[in-house]
Amino acid sequence: MALVVAKFGGTSVASPERIQNVAKRLISIKQQGNDVVAVVSAMGKTTDELVGLAAALNEHPSPREMDMLLSTGEQVSMSLLAMAINARGYRAASFTGWQAGIITDDRNGVAKIVEVNAQRVRDKLAAGAICVVAGFQGISESKEITTLGRGGSDTTAVALAWGLNADVCEIYSDVDGVYSADPRVAPRARKLEQVSYDDMLELASAGAGVLQSRAVELARKFHVVIHSRSSFTDAPGTLIKEADPSMEQAVITGIAHDTSEVKITIRDLDDTPGIASQVFSALAGNNVNVDMIIQNTSEDGHTDISFTFPKGDLDRAQDAVRRLIPKIGARDYVLNENIAKVSIVGTGMKSTPGVSARAFGALAENKVNILMISTSPIRLSVVIDADQVDLAVRCLHTTFGLDSDSVYEEKALSAEELAAKAAKGR
Ligand code: ADP
Ligand code: ASP
Ligand code: MG
Repeated sequence: MALVVAKFGGTSVASPERIQNVAKRLISIKQQGNDVVAVVSAMGKTTDELVGLAAALNEHPSPREMDMLLSTGEQVSMSLLAMAINARGYRAASFTGWQAGIITDDRNGVAKIVEVNAQRVRDKLAAGAICVVAGFQGISESKEITTLGRGGSDTTAVALAWGLNADVCEIYSDVDGVYSADPRVAPRARKLEQVSYDDMLELASAGAGVLQSRAVELARKFHVVIHSRSSFTDAPGTLIKEADPSMEQAVITGIAHDTSEVKITIRDLDDTPGIASQVFSALAGNNVNVDMIIQNTSEDGHTDISFTFPKGDLDRAQDAVRRLIPKIGARDYVLNENIAKVSIVGTGMKSTPGVSARAFGALAENKVNILMISTSPIRLSVVIDADQVDLAVRCLHTTFGLDSDSVYEEKALSAEELAAKAAKGR
């Protein structure tokens, strides 16, 4: 008998019919003689709708109240799923994050799991129930409800798989695994059989939303093997695990894109020691999560600095920059909200020269202008105009020989759901 942790994302529990399907799948895992712990996200677009409701009432809601609000989404799906399982004659018990013993630090909205005390879940499993845990939420040591950042149910699943010493951690979503690029952007993307933790972490951090990067980080730390697969088919998905010789030795594993950041350029600031430190200390002090940075060559003792950061940090960034400008002798700043980051990821890059040259060549051929560049040993990222993101992903995918012979086929999503996904990615 194995212990299976199975996580279902928002699309997988978006309607009563889909919750029925999840219930059937869990019961079938149970009938095969396994213990089952499900982790669920909020139904469909619930979390976005709750964010919208909050914004209608308060431009800057407190992080504590946001967590009180957002944590309700997962509680709706957990109880409905337990009821659906009961209706089929099986025992089930739902748990909020705190009931399942998900203990976090106290940073509302971006809390980190520090401990898992899942004894209550174990007891219910021993009594024969299918356990259903609300994803994305926990409780701090001061007994405040916290959330784990968008997409955080993935992290709940990995943490529970570790805390319960599960045999399998399955993450079900609306794609049947991890592809060499988002298949909705690059229809010739290939499903990968296995991906190493290192490659997956770079892909997820660079915007491949199929898994939350924190979940991959946790999985790597505690050696939890993740099976990313579809809730709409039985096809085997992608295993995310320690690198091993059986993994395909391609130079590039995949291409990720991210349209969730914006760019600010501070113009004509003094080029003297200590100025960059002032700029980035002020941004850090205002909780702005800076990603890429580029500084121009200096002319007459003045230079420009550009940096990117998440759209959600824009108010705080502008506030910091406005206050900084007179202090650092800068002329003004320019905001560009229409940017995208495209990243090429692969452990094989380490030992293969010429990857940047090929990537820049392909982008130039397709008239994609590069605004910024950054690298890590296994990643090359460029910032480009957001309108060219699909073109850039596809041409890089082709250039690095990743194209599959077949075209990706949608399995179950409605036209409305696909449109919502496309809008979210923009
Ligand atoms: P869930 O709601 O189940 O957590 P998400 O929407 O968070 O699902 O993640 C699945 C989505 O990730 C897919 O719909 C797909 O468009 C997107 N995606 C981005 N990059 C990739 C990739 N490399 N492989 C597969 N899916 C990807
Ligand atoms: N419901 C949360 C979100 O939409 C968490 C999750 O789905 O993983 O981000
Ligand atoms: Mg997700």
